[in-house]
Amino acid sequence: MEQYARVIVDISLEKLDRAFTYRIPEALLGRLEPGMQVEVPFGKSNRVISGYVLELTKEAGFDRDKIKEIREISKKGIQIEGQLIRLAAWIRHTYGSTMNQALKTVLPVKRQVEEKQKRQVRLLLSEQKARELLDLLERKSQLARFRVLAALLDTPCWEYGRLLGTCRVSAEVLRKMEEMDILRIEQETLARTGIPEELPPPKRIVLNERQRQVTEQILEGWEAGDMRPCLIHGVTGSGKTEIYMELIADTLRRGREAILLIPEIALTYQTVRRFCQRFGDQVAVLHSRLSQGERHDQFELARKGKLKLMIGPRSALFTPFPKLGIIIMDEEHENSYKSEMVPRYHTRETAVYRASLADARVVLGSATPSMEAYYRASRGEYRLLVLKERVEKRPLPQVEVVDLRQELREGNRSMFSGLLRQRMRERLERGEQMMLFLNRRGFAGFVSCRTCGHVIKCPHCDVSLSLHRGGVLRCHYCGYEKPAVSQCPSCGSGYIGAFRAGTQQVEEAVRREFSGARVLRMDADTTRNKDGYEQILGAFSRGEADVLLGTQMIVKGHDFPGVTLVGVLAADLSLHAADYRAAERTFQLLTQAAGRAGRGERPGQVVIQTYCPEHYSVEAAARQDYEGFYKKELLYRRLMGYPPVQELLAVYLSGADQEELEIGAAALKTAADMLNQEGELQVVGPGDGMVAKVQDQYRKVLYIKGEQEEKLKACREGLEQTLKADCFASLYIQFDKNPVSGY
Ligand code: ADP
Ligand code: ZN
Ligand code: ZN
Repeated sequence: MEQYARVIVDISLEKLDRAFTYRIPEALLGRLEPGMQVEVPFGKSNRVISGYVLELTKEAGFDRDKIKEIREISKKGIQIEGQLIRLAAWIRHTYGSTMNQALKTVLPVKRQVEEKQKRQVRLLLSEQKARELLDLLERKSQLARFRVLAALLDTPCWEYGRLLGTCRVSAEVLRKMEEMDILRIEQETLARTGIPEELPPPKRIVLNERQRQVTEQILEGWEAGDMRPCLIHGVTGSGKTEIYMELIADTLRRGREAILLIPEIALTYQTVRRFCQRFGDQVAVLHSRLSQGERHDQFELARKGKLKLMIGPRSALFTPFPKLGIIIMDEEHENSYKSEMVPRYHTRETAVYRASLADARVVLGSATPSMEAYYRASRGEYRLLVLKERVEKRPLPQVEVVDLRQELREGNRSMFSGLLRQRMRERLERGEQMMLFLNRRGFAGFVSCRTCGHVIKCPHCDVSLSLHRGGVLRCHYCGYEKPAVSQCPSCGSGYIGAFRAGTQQVEEAVRREFSGARVLRMDADTTRNKDGYEQILGAFSRGEADVLLGTQMIVKGHDFPGVTLVGVLAADLSLHAADYRAAERTFQLLTQAAGRAGRGERPGQVVIQTYCPEHYSVEAAARQDYEGFYKKELLYRRLMGYPPVQELLAVYLSGADQEELEIGAAALKTAADMLNQEGELQVVGPGDGMVAKVQDQYRKVLYIKGEQEEKLKACREGLEQTLKADCFASLYIQFDKNPVSGY
């Protein structure tokens, strides 16, 4: 009987993601399996392109005669596991994308260039032997061999091609020398990368009572067959990381592999180090700076079972471990777990699905769980485990809130309130460290006129420009720059300047008001070059500075025992962001920032400066009251029909022509209304994007809300059909399920 394969062809035309049926030629019968990459003829001209086998089938579908045949299995093919292909299909169905986009997200792409097997040449002789031989070769005038040996004496290991080129010799020369045991030609071993060097031996830590209970409860649940994801809600410094290590160790003992997801490597490098210390050479770290090829090498090692623990940001979720046993997601609430590229998948949901395919477990951890995770836990979909206390009975920091409006009335126009200044001075006198936190650099440093309120904006992006050192105004969306102005372009007033400080201005203010204080600044500017984070964090942890100041990146999970004061300069900056998660994000930032204080022997203090001290996210953060915040926030989400109570689907539209965009957006709304004839969904908009224009592309957003995820999915799939109409041809359209950031 004839056999067929459904093949998805690797075409870049994004709206053409159907799978095609091909006949399997006799020579390939029994050799194909889902996930393999094959070469197939395509289109009228039958040009040969590659595709992925999605499934094998005995059904030809219609038109048996027209069915083409698979040419061959791709030489460049990589073994792709069916599991990952299923995961891709799920991602596509859940978040909306083409199958190709989903596959590219899930599968490690290997480039053709990197297919060439890398070889290297290594000297086998001792230096003395080599020198003797070198003399001999010279005397015998065997100059080709002489050059090779001289090169190897200089550098004992060469890349094969380079050695040939440098010594101007043929491959035959090297082969002969290999026969003579002078050198060895070897396949370059895949290198594990991203592991910090010079690791001190791990600190021996014995789990405390509560840590042990939580670990045991989790393990016992699994023993008993309860495979629900576990959410560990543990206050900052309660020792969650140690629990993760125990769970990983347990997984490895059972002969299975582990994935540890962390928000961003650079920002959590201390945590990463602790894992590398404990698990040694079974660990690999997926650094965002790895090249595609290096990433692929890591994945290959994982697939071959040579690694046991993969640590990395969200893409590490797709590590092709053959016997995956556990997926741990640290700082589960972080926004970076949401992909901002199509498919816009959420790591938490995707991890839960991947685990279900692999019969693996999922553990989520956070001091400030996302509304989604906590909501699921409260409904029993996740198991909830709570750690209310810090390790070693260390107290939670004492938090004080300062009303900046009051400061202004009292004539204090500095960035530091009287209280914060006093606390900082005390630290400097006692030689203790402090962190100053300014949320969001985008809002900080914008230039406005004090007379008329005019704000200087980017002509392409409709966002305010920020003032940088040297008097440059810069757009953080597109990079547009112009010199600072001394007169308001709108009213001519001379009272124009940076309205609120950015991190640079804070740094200058600290230096001005606290002479002698040693300051490190960590923001996007100072961490742009390679190792920027590590250098700054390393210097601070070695006590080379008194003050670490920066944007949200300094609040993430660091553990500096010497820090006894955290100052939040303006809590409001994140509160006024125009999206429904603003309060949640503010609460998280404030709580996490506060959590940086007093992690060592000495207790910590926190000063939060704000223009809205009465806002519930500020109040709850000051009390370190997660439950209180959650309850209030859930009321608001329920009232407004926002996630996690309802599902929210955002449709982003952009295009260069404003009129076409408007027509397209209106057409899409009509289509959504048609799909919603039973009225179970709510269609909102279309409205302008939060930033109405980016890089000369106009933006619009349509929101669709509903209680049932399946209904929204069906609606999205209906819209995907609609998008094939002509009026959308010039537009770029993306779907975003439960967005975490504005558009
Ligand atoms: P979390 O991840 O909850 O913020 P960590 O696991 O990072 O907490 O622990 C905070 C600090 O306490 C770390 O420096 C860690 O080494 C230390 N620690 C954790 N557990 C213990 C323990 N049982 N005994 C002593 N110190 C501990
Ligand atoms: Zn003005
Ligand atoms: Zn711009």
